[in-house]
Amino acid sequence: MSILIKDATAITREGKAKKCDVLIEGNTISRASPGINASAEHKINASGKLLLPGFANTHAHTAMSLLRGYADDMELHKWLKERIWPVEKKMNAQSVHAGAMLGICEMIKSGTTSFSDMYFQMDSVAKAVSDSGMRSMLGYGMVDLGDEGKREKELKEGERFAREWNGKEEGRISTCIAPHSPITCSSELLQSSAQIANKLNCKIHLHLSETREELFQIMQKTNKRPVDYLDSLGFLSPRVLAAHCVWISAQEAVLLGKKGVSISHCPVSNMKLAGGGAAPLPELMGAGCTISLGTDGAASNNSLSMFEEMKSCSLLQKHARWDAEVIKAQEAFAFATKGGAKALGINAGEITPGKLADLILLDAKAVNLQPAHNLISNIVYSAHAGNVMDVIIDGKLIMQERKILSFDEEKVIEKAENEAEKIC
Ligand SMILES: [Zn+2]
Repeated sequence: MSILIKDATAITREGKAKKCDVLIEGNTISRASPGINASAEHKINASGKLLLPGFANTHAHTAMSLLRGYADDMELHKWLKERIWPVEKKMNAQSVHAGAMLGICEMIKSGTTSFSDMYFQMDSVAKAVSDSGMRSMLGYGMVDLGDEGKREKELKEGERFAREWNGKEEGRISTCIAPHSPITCSSELLQSSAQIANKLNCKIHLHLSETREELFQIMQKTNKRPVDYLDSLGFLSPRVLAAHCVWISAQEAVLLGKKGVSISHCPVSNMKLAGGGAAPLPELMGAGCTISLGTDGAASNNSLSMFEEMKSCSLLQKHARWDAEVIKAQEAFAFATKGGAKALGINAGEITPGKLADLILLDAKAVNLQPAHNLISNIVYSAHAGNVMDVIIDGKLIMQERKILSFDEEKVIEKAENEAEKIC
């Protein structure tokens, strides 16, 4: 399969706009320059469109799309215990697949070309990725709450899933080990997770310091701050992708940087669940951490659009720090594209020959993108999901002029509605 994109306005690595053609051969960008006249099986006339790297959503629970709007305006721990966990108990392979398809559909329609997911019934999520043409890094979310018997079962399932699905769909699926968080997992589970990830040479995905309550619980139990606690277990390494990192001290940020940890910052979810404060992004950046953005599940967002995440990320930092210069549009854009790809270990996130062809086209003529003084500013502060016209993932055209080609969108919505009704 080859695709030639003609006459696009491309957003370059430096965030500048330039007229560009792109030739995709197989799943890779083979050329990116003006005036390419190569033959290709598929030609896209992209005049009047903006060509961007697709977004990487690095922290999601896609099946939770079934719970969108089911429990709002509640504090996190109360929200989990009283509303989310009881419904999740009713979710089976079929409902998780339906929820994951709904989430993936929403992600594609908002320009996301890869995501990271941690949940249960992960075979169903992997099947949804396989069915949809999406790219993802998936992990079975392990929880033992200190129970030894449960720990063994969880580790077994986590490793089985990671072994079985890694590299599937010609590499579109990668897997990770996903201990849920330092408060829902024992120190033994965390240590075993790090060992398994070393053995399988894969990433580790967990929630970290999302709330102040979590910080207090860990300090009470271990007399250490959460990052110091994880370090004492030998857990921290460049394999780790830590979601949230809101309640992190400046010293903990330095340690995360030293250990090469990647961050999935989830500003909308943090604000909606009233996490308080704001993740110390400038300190984490200064420490050398790779920063990426995540939506978290649709039950705590309630959207999976990375446009909202980029804008909220920049605004939250400016607001919390009384500093309009902090997290510029260009930085938020980089978090959502090349930062996200790096955090997931994917060779994408830039329109450069040799990179994977995960690309999106936006309608440059849309009213909310006029005038075009600064395209990056327009993309981060003004654009929305409805501006995404075409999506290419792994060198395949997945959405054309907003019509999904790889599956039947109407059926996905119908199934999700049925499954949501059954469980809620
Ligand atoms: Zn989460």
